[in-house]
Amino acid sequence: MNFIWVTLGLSVLISNPVLAAPQCSDLEAQWNSHYVSDFKIDWDTSNFTCPGGESSLAMAFFDLANMTFRANKDGYRPDFYALVKGLVRKVHFDPDCKYLALGHRGQGKITLCNPFFKDSREDRASTLVHETRHLQSGDPAHAQCVGGKYNGKAGACDDTFYDGSWNGSGFNADIFFYSWNMNGAEKNELSRAVMQSEMNTMIPDRFNHITGEQTKKWRGN
Ligand SMILES: [Zn+2]
Repeated sequence: MNFIWVTLGLSVLISNPVLAAPQCSDLEAQWNSHYVSDFKIDWDTSNFTCPGGESSLAMAFFDLANMTFRANKDGYRPDFYALVKGLVRKVHFDPDCKYLALGHRGQGKITLCNPFFKDSREDRASTLVHETRHLQSGDPAHAQCVGGKYNGKAGACDDTFYDGSWNGSGFNADIFFYSWNMNGAEKNELSRAVMQSEMNTMIPDRFNHITGEQTKKWRGN
C-alpha cells in the first residue's frame, strides 16, 4: 500500500501541468473564472458537463491558453489565446447553421455551429483562430474556388496560399496555426498526426493560387 501511495504521490509531483490532460473540474474552473468573460459567451453558461458542448469549447480555449512556442529568428512567437481574446467580443451558438463556425467582421462576433462540437480537438482550436482572422480588418475574406474539390463554390477557398505566414484569409490562418504547432511548439497535447492530416485535406482544395512546390512541401507526403 505504501509503495502505491508513494508512486502516485511522485507522479503528481513530477507531472507538468501544461502536459497533463485537464480534468473536467479544471476546465469548469477556467470556464467560470476566465473563458465566459474573456470571450463574452452569450448563452446560459451555468450547465457545464463533461462531455458536453461547454467542455468541448472550454478544451479549445484551454489548448490555446496552454500552448507555448519557441521564438523564430525574428524573436516572434504567437499567442493564440491573446489573439482570439483581443478580437472576439461575443461568442454565439446557432443550432441551425451547418458550418463549423462563422466569423462576423465588424461585429467582433463568432457564431459556433453544431459540427464545431463534433470536430477534432485540434481543429476546434484552429477554427477559433480561423474565425478570429475574419474579425481582423486585413482579412481579404474567402474567394470562390477555382478547381479542386470545391470547384465553383463561393467563399470556400482562400485566393492565395501565403506559405504559412499570417496573410490571406481563414484557411491561411489554419495553416499558420498548424505550422506553429507542428514546428515551433513545446510539446502539447495536440496530435501532430491529426494536424498534418488536417493540413493534407486543406492544401490541395482550399487555395486557388498555390504552386506544386508548395503543395509538396506542406503536404508532408
Ligand atoms: Zn472562414
